Order: sequence, then C-alpha cells, then structure tokens
Amino acid sequence: MSCIGGSIYPFSVFDPWQGELCTCPKKYSLNPYTGCSFACLYCYAKSYIGKKSSHPKMNFLKLMERALPKINRNLVVNLGTSSDPYPEEEKEHELTKGALNLLIKGGFKVLITTKGGSIMLRDAELMAGGKVAVTPTVTTLSENIARKIEPGAPPPSERIETAKKLSSLGIPIGFRIDPIIPGVNDDESELRELVEVAAEVGAKMVVTSTYKAKPLDFKDMVEAFPELEERWRVLYFEEGERIGGYRYLKRELREKMLAPVVNEAAKLGIEYATCREGLLSKEFFNSRSCDGSHLTENSFKHEKYKNKEGSEQL
Ligand code: SF4
Repeated sequence: MSCIGGSIYPFSVFDPWQGELCTCPKKYSLNPYTGCSFACLYCYAKSYIGKKSSHPKMNFLKLMERALPKINRNLVVNLGTSSDPYPEEEKEHELTKGALNLLIKGGFKVLITTKGGSIMLRDAELMAGGKVAVTPTVTTLSENIARKIEPGAPPPSERIETAKKLSSLGIPIGFRIDPIIPGVNDDESELRELVEVAAEVGAKMVVTSTYKAKPLDFKDMVEAFPELEERWRVLYFEEGERIGGYRYLKRELREKMLAPVVNEAAKLGIEYATCREGLLSKEFFNSRSCDGSHLTENSFKHEKYKNKEGSEQL
C-alpha cells in the first residue's frame, strides 16, 4: 500500500481544525504520547487528548517503523503537535528517543515542538547528527506565572538552559512565545526581555500568538485567575470575535499585544512570525515558515557531526 503525502498511523498530516488562519506548511504530526502531564491551563489540545498525564502509545515504535517507507520523505515530521514529546514519562519509555533514531537514520527532517527541559540533553547528540530543529515554548520568564499556567512543565529557566545547550551544538532553535494571555504574561517590557533571551540563546526565529478561548480551557483559566474572569469575558465574548470555533480578542488588541515580540525580534535581526492570527503583513511575519519547519533545512552541523551517518555532508 502506498500513502505518499497522506496520513498513515502513527503519522498524520497536520491539519489543525482545518484552521482557516493556519499558515503551517504541509507536514506530518507525530505524537508518541497521548494526554500530557504538563497540564497547561490554556491547552487547546486537552479537549481531544484528555487526561492530565502522558501515556505511551501502544506499539508506537513498531507501527512507526512499518509506516516509515510509506510516508512522503519531503515533508517535515513535527514531533509534539498535540502531546509534548518530552514529558517526565519519556525517561522511562524512551519513545521520543526511539522515534528520533528511526527518523534520523531515514534522513527525515524533524521539528520538535516542546516545553521539555534537561531530559532533552540525553538526545542532543542524536539531534545534532540529523536534520533536526527544536522550537521550545517559553511563555514567560517568571517562574511563578509559569508554575501557575504550565504546572507540570519544567520551569522556564530549565527550558532556556536546555535550548542554549542544544543551540551550542548547532541545532537550530526557534522560540515559541505562545500564547500571550491578557493580564497574565502580556507585559511589554517582559516580552521584549524574553525575545532578548531568545536571541542570546541563538534562536533563529520567534513565533508568537495570543490566547484563543475554547470552553474547556477557558474554564480552567478562570478557575486559576478568578480576578480576571470579568475582564476576559468582556475582551473575548463581548468585544472579541469568533473564528473557527475559538473566541479571539479583537484584532487591534491582538496587534498591540504581539507588537513587542515582533518589533524586538526585528530589532535584533531574528526572523518572526505569528500563529493563527491572520496577521501576515511584513510587520508581523517575515519568517520563511510560521512553525520553524524551514529551520530543519538549514540545520547547521557542528564539525564533529558532519560526517556521521544520516547527517548532511556540508
Ligand atoms: S505542553 Fe502542549 S500539549 Fe502539553 S498540556 Fe501544554 S499546551 Fe497541551
């Protein structure tokens, strides 16, 4: 059976909510786990991945190996589009490590989207030997805010330190400053500082977006921030707009909230993009892809990895 370009389990063609505002290039989505122990309050995926804990998928590596010859090698494989690929459980199950091994050996381009911490360093040499890019999500530099909105994830300082080490091995990094939530992590100077940190880490791009409300995550957000409920109800449900099943903030407010990130990135000479915002002018989007897919093409290899099997000969 041939399935070039289509979904074949456990690879699925990424098509989030048939999203009218999604600008992601065509790619495969691959998630070794179901559920997610990071339990982010704002997580849009929890309506379908459920459970606030990560569970390894049955026979994942075996099924992956079987599917690999049938998928389109030109498409990027994005690990972690709905469940994080580096939860605590990965230490025991090593499914992400196994997936990386198979993909890199096969010469596939891999994009890793994660809030993972130091556990990723276990796989650093592996990543550096392939066409791999990593896009860590860091929504705030405040450990307190992060603990509240991403209770199960490693603290931002650990994610940043990990990104720095990966970047030093030549693995391309793109920062996701995503989502920005009104009244929580939207302070202009803190957002600018976060982009500066991304630049110091060596990030090639930043991608950013505002929080979009869905009933399940909005309920969790309100429970954690009851003092913001009234303000959010006005911003999202009275003044905001409905797009593709989500409540968005009004466009002018979204532009205002995202401006510090894209302006600082422009100032520092880093590529920038917005995610599902419909803001595609040069002011908000100058990157070659919104998700960092293009970074897998440019994987710069550290000297010591250049001639390894499966790596590019530069
Ligand atoms: S890390 Fe991603 S998938 Fe996991 S809970 Fe947070 S937003 Fe959801």
